[in-house]
Amino acid sequence: MNLHTHIILALAFGLIFFHNDITLAVLVGIGAAIPDLDREYVLTKRKIFAKYQLHRALFHNIFFALAMVYLNFYLGLGIFLHMALDLLTSPTDRGVELFFPLGRLVKNYELDYDGNIRKSRGIMWYLEDPMRIINKTADPGLKEVVKMPWIRIYGPFKNSRLVDWMIFYSSFVFIQLYELNHLAEWWKIFLYTVFVKFTFIVIGIVLFYFTGELWRRRLQFQNLNSKLKYVILGVMALGLSLILFQGINLYSPMKPIINFNTLVLIIVSMLVGLFLAYIHVRLRFKKVTL
Ligand SMILES: [Zn+2]
Repeated sequence: MNLHTHIILALAFGLIFFHNDITLAVLVGIGAAIPDLDREYVLTKRKIFAKYQLHRALFHNIFFALAMVYLNFYLGLGIFLHMALDLLTSPTDRGVELFFPLGRLVKNYELDYDGNIRKSRGIMWYLEDPMRIINKTADPGLKEVVKMPWIRIYGPFKNSRLVDWMIFYSSFVFIQLYELNHLAEWWKIFLYTVFVKFTFIVIGIVLFYFTGELWRRRLQFQNLNSKLKYVILGVMALGLSLILFQGINLYSPMKPIINFNTLVLIIVSMLVGLFLAYIHVRLRFKKVTL
């Protein structure tokens, strides 16, 4: 989904969840802007990003989101909301690789896109990723260089189309209605929170995305001299430093909901469960498919 859709939906949820506390709601909105930093913004060629399939994986997985929840609950919530929206998007947009990097441990799959059974050995994912539709319709940086298992989660909707814009406009209208009895005052505090309270992180995000998009959409196809490349790199580095500079101040680790002993029990149960399931599926089907 579009970045502004992510941000405004998270802002609306933040206002509802935290009873109009604008600071907390803006933090949720900022959190929702973070995951897309994993796009091909770093002055590399799209081919490299396609090779490693990083977008919608690196910062769009539950491990990253949980770590952020621990560092700052409100930013982490924004990341979860971002992922929830991206889960609704199509193979063309590449959905979300929810379990990155764990899902990449298994590279084989049993059924190809046309329904033919492949003779692979070892543990396999069940399905091949729909490579034909992806490579015909996806952005160049998201195409698949080699056939791979279906490790991403896709939904039915396309970025920037009806559902995306509906969520954007609905969230905007909702916020206006929700704050209607003190709307002017609300906007004043909102703008103050965004541009004064969180100046550095907001300017950082704007700088990073603006130059990043400029590079991704236009500049990478032009023969830029290396001086200009350094300027772009410098602006992006400045953006990132501003994000980190204020981000560090937002560090407020959560008290763990699960105590250490319970965590150990969960991990032991999962390992034993995995072992039992492996034996079960191996005996039942003679091969192991996820
Ligand atoms: Zn995203």
